[in-house]
Amino acid sequence: MGARIIDGKALAAGLKRQLAEQMAALEEKDIRPGLATVLVGNPYEAEAYEKRIRYLAGDIGCHYTREPLPEDTAEADVVATVGKLNADPRVSGILILKPLPEGISEAAVHEALDPKKDIEAVHPVNAGLLTLGRPRYVPSTPAACFHALDSYLASSGRDPADFYSRSNLVVVGRSNNVGKPLVSLGFSRNATVTSCDVHTYNAGRLREFTIQADILIVAAGVEGLIDASYVREGVIAVDVGINPVEDPETGQTKLVGDLDFESVAEKAEALTPVPGGIGPVTDAWLLNNAILAAKTAAGLDTSVEPAARQPLSSSNKIYNLQNIRE
Ligand code: NAD
Repeated sequence: MGARIIDGKALAAGLKRQLAEQMAALEEKDIRPGLATVLVGNPYEAEAYEKRIRYLAGDIGCHYTREPLPEDTAEADVVATVGKLNADPRVSGILILKPLPEGISEAAVHEALDPKKDIEAVHPVNAGLLTLGRPRYVPSTPAACFHALDSYLASSGRDPADFYSRSNLVVVGRSNNVGKPLVSLGFSRNATVTSCDVHTYNAGRLREFTIQADILIVAAGVEGLIDASYVREGVIAVDVGINPVEDPETGQTKLVGDLDFESVAEKAEALTPVPGGIGPVTDAWLLNNAILAAKTAAGLDTSVEPAARQPLSSSNKIYNLQNIRE
């Protein structure tokens, strides 16, 4: 295995240092960012994610509000909870944890968010701004993927902007929260982008597209979907998938990605592992977005934030709240 492993834990540690610096600067101005989460029911992965970001918020001194709701909560009550958080001045950013139980419309809950607190860009206004290449917030998982790629490309001596503009970027998975924003961010970097989803797979054509990828990002939620036969020699591969499986040796649940790691590593130039890849970077980006929301709410100039600018190509501006009219 000659591939380089893109170390998400190390990247996250760097981002956490930046978060701590930002928090210290805000404390001097008497501004305390606040993150709120809404979790309906007890989905295993969402609970684990909520716990991780609660601890991270505590570590950096971010105010944290937790709204756990029972599985049988009515949609109107979830919407009312979001309304309460919108009105709470201690909360600068809100995360709606997925999945919501059947019978609750994700669209209705997302539309209930105050767009200025919608740090995952799921409200139609923010999703639209992202698609137009002028994001208010870059959602955390897609941002984490490009942070990992930007950092890797720079560390390998390349000019990321030049590399993206000459690259085939293939994204597997087309969800509103991960796959589609990844495509928009690929466009922002002037890559040639192909989007594949389960229909591509069912049509028997997934390999035909993935094998052309210079950069492959996989976010399908299917254990080991992509093996060496799906990638070309020298691919740079990012694995977003998190799939709990039983370890046959220990009987314990362990997490694996959408890449068949060992086999893809035989051909890849570099790839992200699971765990320890995109997950920890995502956590840090979510907190970064909560801080960004607090800064913009306080009327601070966010146009100079290096961390906020990072997921965009140098030819794109980051638009802060003052630039956007609803
Ligand atoms: P989702 O279920 O909403 O969407 C999955 C997408 O993958 C869909 O577009 C679907 O059509 C596509 N897909 C499914 N099977 C496929 C196949 N065989 N071939 C090609 N495409 C296929 O899931 P999501 O929220 O986008 O999450 C995707 C994965 O990423 C999950 O494993 C999730 O746990 C993980 N995830 C990780 C992070 C992180 O921080 N690392 C964050 C969010 C999601």
